[in-house]
Amino acid sequence: MKTVFPIPEPTLIPVVGTDAAFPVRRVYCVGRNYAEHAKEMGFTGREEPFFFSKPADAVLYVPEGETGELPYPPRTSDLHHEIELVVALSSGGRDLSVEEAAACIYGYAVGLDMTRRDLQGEAKKLGRPWEVGKAFDYGAPMGPIYPAERTGVLEQGDITLVVNGQIRQKGCVSHMIWKVAESISYLSGLFELRAGDLIFTGTPEGVAAVEPGDLMVGAVQGVGELKVKVVA
Ligand code: MN
Repeated sequence: MKTVFPIPEPTLIPVVGTDAAFPVRRVYCVGRNYAEHAKEMGFTGREEPFFFSKPADAVLYVPEGETGELPYPPRTSDLHHEIELVVALSSGGRDLSVEEAAACIYGYAVGLDMTRRDLQGEAKKLGRPWEVGKAFDYGAPMGPIYPAERTGVLEQGDITLVVNGQIRQKGCVSHMIWKVAESISYLSGLFELRAGDLIFTGTPEGVAAVEPGDLMVGAVQGVGELKVKVVA
């Protein structure tokens, strides 16, 4: 059928070692999934996992070795970085067991769950949704996807973020409160998951603000490096 305007381009993330791309369907994020980050946000630690979403077109793909440009978003004066391991699914389903959830993992990437912390804080205080704090344009920079057949199951390894040469966040993937497959399993009880879904799996402690001109270099051991410059 004809469309009244051109169909928007899908979000495509190149897959390392192939000439194929991963088409993004949905972007889910896990909240407060590292105990020390939960504490710095004023919470105690292990609670039931909870989730929020970003639109697929909020993904800002940055090829490895290049520096992406993140326009400083409007209506905030407190833009925070959250470095995260991203999991890409090549299948899905509902009410998946932890084992079934693990079998849905296609690969991994390094990503940033950028957050307008002031707007998120206001939403929390007023009991409003988090969208304005989390789901803004360019709010999900990420690198290419490394297939799990290359990386193996990623359950450990350093996760770091350096801003202008200074280390800001340093953690270990093994410190996640809810492991990757547990988060996928829990999420599948809330939503039917499908091929193309991405899951940002939470950030370690050390979240802080960036300003225009700052250069963020994030890394997750085994899935490369993500370089993003904040621009005015
Ligand atoms: Mn996050």
